[in-house]
Amino acid sequence: MALDKNIAVLIGGVGGAKLASGLVEAVPPERLTFIVNTGDDFWHLGLKICPDIDTLMYTLSCLVNPELGWGIADDTTAALDSLARHYQVEPWFRLGDQDLATHILRTHWLRRGRSLTAVTTCLAERLGLRTAILPMSDDEVPTMVNTIERGELGFQEYFVKYAWSPVIRSIRHQGCEKARLSQPAQAALTEADIVLIAPSNPWLSLAPILAIPGLRDLLTRLTAPVVAVTPIIAGDAVKGPTAKIMRELGLQVSARAVARFYGGLIDGFVDDRRNEPFEIEGLRTIQLNTLMNNQADKVALARALLDWIVRWAR
Ligand code: GDP
Repeated sequence: MALDKNIAVLIGGVGGAKLASGLVEAVPPERLTFIVNTGDDFWHLGLKICPDIDTLMYTLSCLVNPELGWGIADDTTAALDSLARHYQVEPWFRLGDQDLATHILRTHWLRRGRSLTAVTTCLAERLGLRTAILPMSDDEVPTMVNTIERGELGFQEYFVKYAWSPVIRSIRHQGCEKARLSQPAQAALTEADIVLIAPSNPWLSLAPILAIPGLRDLLTRLTAPVVAVTPIIAGDAVKGPTAKIMRELGLQVSARAVARFYGGLIDGFVDDRRNEPFEIEGLRTIQLNTLMNNQADKVALARALLDWIVRWAR
């Protein structure tokens, strides 16, 4: 039976989207709100690209490329190929033809003065989604990565152009001091019975959300439990640069270090059963199978973690 509670989820891209597709089977979709990282967003060839929002929209509408976990399944690249063939523009950021439709429509609506929140809601509705997908803010807060080899890079240059190979010195969220949490995101958190922090990259996908002024205070004031899910399994990331970044920032690659990163913000932590168990005073933990290889794993994890939270969060 679906759990009838309001659930707000702070979330990044592919790792988080896996849990999201489990949650939509465990909770009535209209009871779920995803508050999505926009630190990865950027302007490219005049188009506004929001990778984490799109990954989540494509995943939940079953359009996603299942091999990559992002982009649209069976997409072609005729538009980008034409840029290269006819105009000698070699785009380093690959965009599929069907995917381009999303960026064109988003940019068109933004240019007509609508907020990113309003535009995202319209895109999600047209894709048939009944779950709220909200950007963390309508203000731009681009993630800037300070690297040893190449100095400061915009996030997509670091992540895609240089394939996250440069060594990170530090990360900053440009303009975060002035950014505001969107009103619908604030309302979703205030009205939530449970707040989840998805198994996304804590430093690249969740830190930008937590950098929005007032958000940390809001989370600590909530009576609803706040629970994070580990992105580290058996001492490593399932994919992407999380473990590499932890080493570069001088941290041990462990679920415990992730739990410490969230510090006093979380009441509970869902660890993986392959990890070394740990205790942090005042933090409830459980070990589950958090490796989501297929839809059954995703739904099982969503159900198990919600059952656990409901048992102690009265
Ligand atoms: P990105 O934008 O594609 O980097 O995606 P995210 O920020 O959402 O997630 C990257 C993180 O997701 C990495 O740290 C992965 O270890 C984690 N991740 C990916 N798949 C899984 C999984 O099946 N289970 C868990 N627990 N974490 C996962």
